[in-house]
Amino acid sequence: MNILAMLWKNFWGGSRTLLFPERPKVTQRFRGLVQFDPELCTGCAICKFRCTSRAITYHAGKGEFTWSYDPGQCTFCGRCVEGCTEHALKEGHAEHALTQESACPPIYLQQGELKKTYTVKRRAPAPKPAAAPAAQSAAPTTEPATGGTQ
Ligand code: SF4
Ligand code: SF4
Repeated sequence: MNILAMLWKNFWGGSRTLLFPERPKVTQRFRGLVQFDPELCTGCAICKFRCTSRAITYHAGKGEFTWSYDPGQCTFCGRCVEGCTEHALKEGHAEHALTQESACPPIYLQQGELKKTYTVKRRAPAPKPAAAPAAQSAAPTTEPATGGTQ
């Protein structure tokens, strides 16, 4: 950009500071708030282990588990979503439990105010598809031994 045009813009372009609670516009691919779908969660806990900022907590219980997410601790890195997607693909599921919104997370005033906790019942694992019938035994490939030494 031409230096004079830049100076002109800086002098006469007005203030760029947004006053609270106004929010900056974000691009379509902005990685924002993590969304959780308990219907799709298998309780593998991969997201918890991937989240180094401890925004996700996971506790296994008897027949159920609790999963929590605190946006106030989240750095929006997306590692949990990647892990959940990879896990779903490995398990052959078309959908995964975690996604990320392209919008900014809501404003909060108290620590932990946005934290959400879900208690999810463990589902029985889906039955594995029946094994294909074994191929018919092939004809022996070696000739039977014919007698011993003379
Ligand atoms: S986006 Fe990053 S920081 Fe936020 S919950 Fe996921 S792994 Fe943790
Ligand atoms: S990685 Fe996905 S499926 Fe596994 S516990 Fe986290 S949200 Fe649930």
